[in-house]
Amino acid sequence: MLRFGAMRLLSALLLALAVCGPAAAQGTPAQREVTVATRVLPPMVVEREGALTGFSIDLWNEISARLNLKTVYRVQPDVRALLEDVRSSQSNLGVAAISITSAREAEFDFSQPIMNAGLQIMVRGQGKDGESSPLRDLMSLLFSWTSLAWLGIAVMLIVVPAHLMWFFERGHKNGIIPTPAYIPGIFYALYWAAGTLATQAEEGPRHWVGRVLGILWMFTGLVFVALYTAQLAATLTVQQIGGGINSPDDLSGRKVAVTRGSTAAGAVRDLQAQVTEVGQISEAYEALLAKSVDAVVFDSPVLLYYAANDGKGRVTTVGAPFRKEDYGIVFPRGSALRLETNVALLKMREDGTYQRIYDRWFGAR
Ligand code: GLU
Repeated sequence: MLRFGAMRLLSALLLALAVCGPAAAQGTPAQREVTVATRVLPPMVVEREGALTGFSIDLWNEISARLNLKTVYRVQPDVRALLEDVRSSQSNLGVAAISITSAREAEFDFSQPIMNAGLQIMVRGQGKDGESSPLRDLMSLLFSWTSLAWLGIAVMLIVVPAHLMWFFERGHKNGIIPTPAYIPGIFYALYWAAGTLATQAEEGPRHWVGRVLGILWMFTGLVFVALYTAQLAATLTVQQIGGGINSPDDLSGRKVAVTRGSTAAGAVRDLQAQVTEVGQISEAYEALLAKSVDAVVFDSPVLLYYAANDGKGRVTTVGAPFRKEDYGIVFPRGSALRLETNVALLKMREDGTYQRIYDRWFGAR
């Protein structure tokens, strides 16, 4: 009887254990597994010795630890493939450097912004591997459309006064045009006009109209030389800071590298640039350094990180971000995970964890 009672007690205990499961026995609930689409994009996502790290990865790992999730990453080649992975539910969510846009918001759900970003331009710098060589800049300036335009103005400023001067001065005794004939008289006049334009007039006219004209043209010459010098200096300076690319408007017709499917690709196409699309951002950097493109347009935090680290002295960013964007974590429409993620993310902002992760990758500012 006693033996039978002990047996029943034992089997009841075993049953209880089986129902509650091993996790309950240890006092912790079972971890849920989530698949997370991402893509390598330093410093947001960095691949180091086969493992993933970076700002976005560290941020998600912290969120997933707080939510007791087990993360399996699915690394995608570009942002388009990343979004497709989430769209097709292969992944439960996506995290990298995903900009929240109106088109994406219409199709996906986004977390609270995880970082402010925006599009910026990067060009070759002035370092030893950089673009600028004063001689090359000067040559390209001398043989440019700008120079041709100035040459046209100079010709006008020589031919017109030469004819006026020939008309009033021809055959004047001791004048600058000793003969009344058009040829060779006009050559004397042209020589005088060219000298005057260069502010180096050797002789003065004799006729009073010629004298008034002469003085007027000396001033015109001065202004011309001053304007030409100013233009030359400005163009050379601009060329040294990135081949004449100073703002988004300068990108029209230029060769620009962007990543496939990115917001930068759309923006640069709108600016009528010649777009080269690459998968990895490192390919865009290489194309810039190899001079096969004139600029890279991409997310400001990514470009600034490269310019301050591997690209130091070789590249430089131009101006401030010209279009502001925010990064978010992307979920399929209606995902229950979004609310939990947002709560964890906001708590991390409040308790300083977010700032610690930020400082780890971007330094204290
Ligand atoms: N912020 C860019 C976008 O969302 C990043 C693109 C990329 O990952 O290459 O379009």
